Amino acid sequence: MGRRKRKKIVKKVVKRIPKVFLCPNCGKNAVFVKIDKKENKASVKCSSCNIALDVELRLSEEPIDAYNSFVDAYYSGKV
Ligand SMILES: [Zn+2]
Repeated sequence: MGRRKRKKIVKKVVKRIPKVFLCPNCGKNAVFVKIDKKENKASVKCSSCNIALDVELRLSEEPIDAYNSFVDAYYSGKV
């Protein structure tokens, strides 16, 4: 009965790595989201075509939510 003990290696990422999203303007995977908890906002910027927007954080502080707001704003002509 050789029960193997498996040690789980959990890699903890302490640093908040900026996530990259698809840009609605230039179509490149170059949109970075920076969360600023203190200011309660997120800076969304495309490093390819340089469109940028500060998004207010509401319920969530996930980069994807900020990105969604960014895309919404883009399509409603606010960027
Ligand atoms: Zn772009």
